[in-house]
Amino acid sequence: MHVRVFGGSAANVAWARSGCLLVDDHVAFDSGGLASELSLLEQVSVDHVLLTHAHLDHIGELAFLVDNVMTARAAPLKIWAPGPVLDLVRQHLFNNQLWPDFSQISSGNHPVVEFCPLESEGFLALGRLKIRWVRTCHPVFSVGYLVEDTNGSFLYTGDTGPTEAIWALAREASALRAVFVETAFPNRLQDLAMTSGHLTPSLLGNELAKLQTPEAIINVMHVKPVYHDEIARELQTLPRPWRIVAGGERLSLD
Ligand SMILES: [Zn+2]
Ligand SMILES: [Zn+2]
Repeated sequence: MHVRVFGGSAANVAWARSGCLLVDDHVAFDSGGLASELSLLEQVSVDHVLLTHAHLDHIGELAFLVDNVMTARAAPLKIWAPGPVLDLVRQHLFNNQLWPDFSQISSGNHPVVEFCPLESEGFLALGRLKIRWVRTCHPVFSVGYLVEDTNGSFLYTGDTGPTEAIWALAREASALRAVFVETAFPNRLQDLAMTSGHLTPSLLGNELAKLQTPEAIINVMHVKPVYHDEIARELQTLPRPWRIVAGGERLSLD
């Protein structure tokens, strides 16, 4: 399994972009960077996008991805998310006002997009990928994903404050090789982090204590650009190896 990281931040500035993971070139988790950092040919290869939640930094580039590939694909682009997340995306983005409802537009003999609702928590097989998800702690309905193939697995928390279920899921993983976990605020803004459903380096340390896989690489995502250096300093106290993803990373998890 190969994972490309696009962006990795919590916002867009000249040197950072909101995050997204692309697995084996075909399956994306969230949409940050999918349109602005992939070539047109690479965008056409994306067959599935799974969303953690409906905040703009996670869904915004879907609009441009769909528009870019709508006449170039041989099958619908499938957008997967738990029902409450998909409802928000359809009501507020692909609503024929902010942007067209591409599920009602055909190219060739198929719709451009197929919206695929998921259960609140569950299991999905896409090719050789086995994907499980559980709820996370965020002001809107949100989930995190565990993605496994026969050689290993990774965890993607999406946005979350302190939580339990995603770490319980991680403890069940076979050969967990990488964790992509958010840290949005520095320690001095812990109150803001807690009310907005995010982590600080200190809170991240508490969360990682729930993870019983010391060999998994900790990839810190969703760092707000304005706090990047402060968060990087505070992460130095983490008792296990970590790195802040900058975007552009390619990980082989075989
Ligand atoms: Zn969010
Ligand atoms: Zn976010």
